[in-house]
Amino acid sequence: MKLYNTLSRTKEDFAPMDGKRVRMYSCGPTVYNYAHIGNLRTYVFMDLLRRSLKYEGFKIKGVMNITDVGHLLSDSDDGEDKMQKAAREQNKDPYEIAAYYTGVFFEDLKKLNIERPELTPKATDHIADMEKYVQGLIEKGVAYETADGIYFDISAFPEYGKLSGIKLDEQQAGARVEVNDGKRHPADFALWKKAPKEHIMQWDSPWGKSYPGWHIECSAMSRKYLGDIFDIHTGGVDHIPIHHENEIAQSQALTGHNPARFWMHGEFMLVDGGKMSKSLGNTYTIAQLEGMGYKPMHFRYFCLNAHYRKKLNFTFEGLDAAKVSYERLGSLLLKHKAAAAATPLEIIEKYKKEFSENVSDDLNVPGALGTLWTMLKEPASKDIYALAIEFDRVFGLSLAEYEEEKEEVAVPDDVRAVADERFEARKNKDWAKSDELREKLAALGWAVKDAKDGYELTPINK
Ligand code: AMP
Ligand code: ZN
Repeated sequence: MKLYNTLSRTKEDFAPMDGKRVRMYSCGPTVYNYAHIGNLRTYVFMDLLRRSLKYEGFKIKGVMNITDVGHLLSDSDDGEDKMQKAAREQNKDPYEIAAYYTGVFFEDLKKLNIERPELTPKATDHIADMEKYVQGLIEKGVAYETADGIYFDISAFPEYGKLSGIKLDEQQAGARVEVNDGKRHPADFALWKKAPKEHIMQWDSPWGKSYPGWHIECSAMSRKYLGDIFDIHTGGVDHIPIHHENEIAQSQALTGHNPARFWMHGEFMLVDGGKMSKSLGNTYTIAQLEGMGYKPMHFRYFCLNAHYRKKLNFTFEGLDAAKVSYERLGSLLLKHKAAAAATPLEIIEKYKKEFSENVSDDLNVPGALGTLWTMLKEPASKDIYALAIEFDRVFGLSLAEYEEEKEEVAVPDDVRAVADERFEARKNKDWAKSDELREKLAALGWAVKDAKDGYELTPINK
């Protein structure tokens, strides 16, 4: 299997360090708001990677953190903590906010068939691990204390910038000058922040009441669960120049190793050709798309159609096209499902090989979808159906559960009124009346089926 490694800027042959099990860390959400479809694209990428590795026979130990403290408004050290800001604006407890948005995030993953990684640790549950990490860095002489926190001394790590290819002096020239007197170098970054009184999430530490910085969270949690060196680290491309450079600097300084052998990054989703962000107010959530009549699978299909290293421009025309394709794919699939005929083994093997070649070529999922489409145009066969379901282990498009959308039939008001009356009678356990009204409905041409909290009406075909 070949995977693109941001570190070497090439596709490299991939094999896990310890034989069959891939140890993988993914930067997870900061849970101060709903995840938007751009964020979710990055998790669809993580999921495709997991599913493809499994399809190719590997096992996975995946860790995705939940950032519930310490991520400041900018990825470097400016601005308020995002959790604290949300708590202040909504007049709520930050723990309550974190719990709510974490719950919604996991629901979104479920809707999109994104497999939940094996471990999903929360930053606030690992304060002691982070503190120990920072203490280790101080002991190594690569961190120093200022009036407002503990900072990493970038001069201790001349290789800083290797992942992004941005040299430190170029970064310095481009960076805006921060008002932070205590820092020795503008690119030195916060490992730990001293908490002002109003910062609700704070802990006692050797440096007084304080809280961890965002970068140390990922370094401490990945090390705890996956060790000093693991196989793959994922995130969105925005993490390359700051967050992941900082993770590498911290790990190199403490353990002497770059923590991940492969650094993989999902490209951004744009909206109408421009930047999408919660702060610009041009984002959508999955719930909003559902409210507009799209299935989560339409959005997933939309993501699968573009390679993860290509920018993907979100438009409703694009989503509509994905919807049409997905439904068409489903109805083609149902023809094969209903078929009793078989397909010659060599044809099946040909498609299997082509599919696997696509998947193992740095997750060429659009190519693999192409294989699926070509295959579904073969004469109807139960073998093609079975293979499409097998391919769906990678796609995660719920193909085994696919059902054609039932046409909504308008129920006339008088029929609805009788059905409501019958529902009331059932609630009152008036079975005689209920039966009588069932017959009345039948006479009007409608069959009624009882559901848990209501009923379903279908026209009787004469
Ligand atoms: P956050 O919750 O802000 O930390 O972001 C969660 C994930 O979404 C990170 O991995 C980001 O890299 C990613 N992300 C943010 N915006 C976009 C976007 N427009 N397209 C794709 N991924 C994004
Ligand atoms: Zn991270």
